[in-house]
This record gives sequence, structure tokens and C-alpha cells, in this order.
Amino acid sequence: MPKLNESQKSDLVAAAKRYAANYPGSPAQTYMAHRGLGAALNRYGYVSEPAVGHERYRNHLAIPYWRPAGGIHAVATIRFRCISDECVRKPDGSYRPVHQERHEGHGKYLGLPGHPPHLHNTSALLTGTPYLALTEGETDDEAASIADVPAVGTPGVASWRDHFAPAFAGFEVVFALGDGDPAGRAFATRMCELLPNAVAIDLGDGYDTSRYVQEFGPDAFRERLGL
Ligand SMILES: [Zn+2]
Repeated sequence: MPKLNESQKSDLVAAAKRYAANYPGSPAQTYMAHRGLGAALNRYGYVSEPAVGHERYRNHLAIPYWRPAGGIHAVATIRFRCISDECVRKPDGSYRPVHQERHEGHGKYLGLPGHPPHLHNTSALLTGTPYLALTEGETDDEAASIADVPAVGTPGVASWRDHFAPAFAGFEVVFALGDGDPAGRAFATRMCELLPNAVAIDLGDGYDTSRYVQEFGPDAFRERLGL
């Protein structure tokens, strides 16, 4: 896998900044608010003016992987999420609950070609709390953060890489938050095998962190973690 050169890195930072600038008032912000993530602490984006090579991500929510370091290293990668009305709206014109979305013929999430999986929201590793959450998805780490639980996300269960593990060493407890489905539960179990400080938290059938926080509130979520 070739590493990004300096010019590619600075192009990525410029694209993430442009998308972040186009986020306020955008359909992406509306979508996030609809998922209970209107108070987003992270910097998300909206692709109204795609950077060169990003044309296929037009009108997507942009999820930059900001790093604590700045400069050309400020963004590890960007992922994109389809928020198209046609995909989310039911045939009768009403909206599907967002946890039942279907995106026929295309992936709900798209990554940049050739970019390996990264951990999202790595600045949460530096918050100094004795605990940390590890969520299955990138918007789930946001939901946990809104509940004042520092959280790092993976871009899905298949994107875990064992070289991520050392980043979690030293925390008293790492809450492994997979989705409430077989893949999510397998993810949490795998994390417990791999990380000696991990504890699997099952949020219930059909729940992911964002849906749980949205339906039951931040306090119930913290209570579920025993905080
Ligand atoms: Zn779609």
C-alpha cells in the first residue's frame, strides 16, 4: 500500500476543510441532527463542491479522520456517507427510520480508493480519562462523545486491524460497543480477546450507540456503561 505523499496529504486536508466549511446549514447537518448528532463535537463536512477526484462523493456527508497533529498530517483519510433522500425515503414518501436504511446498488459508506482503514477520532485517546469507548462506527463515537464518554470508532467491523490494539493499552477499561446484531457482537467479543482491558457492552437488538443515545439519552447510556 503506497503511503500518501506530501502533496496528497495537503490536498486531503484542504478537501476536509472545504467540506467542513460547507457543513453548516447543509443537508448533512440536517441528517446528523435527525440522528441526534446535531451537537456534533467532531468536525464533519458536506460535499457540495467536490475536490478533484471526489466527484462521486457529491452531496455526501464527509467524515474526516482528523488527527491531533496539524499541518499536512491533520487528516488521515476521509469517508463519505450517502444521505440521499431517495435512499432514505420510503415509497409512500415517509422517511425510513435511519437504522433501517437501504442503499440499493451502492454502499452506504464510501472510502477513498487505496486508503487503508484508520481509527476515527484518535484525539479521544488523549483526553486523560481512565476509560474509553471503542465503537463499531464513526458516527457512534460521536454519539458516545456527546454523552461525555471519549470514544474512538472503527469504520465497521471488517475494518479492525490488529495494529490498532496498542493505542488502547493503559486505559482501566475500554467499552467495546458493537451494534446489536451478530456481526456487532462478534466484534465486541473479538475486542475482548484482543484487548485485556476491554469489556463488551451489549446495547440490545437493533441498537447501535447513536440510536441508543438518541432514544434513551446520554445519562442512560453512561449508566449502561456503569459510569
Ligand atoms: Zn444511498
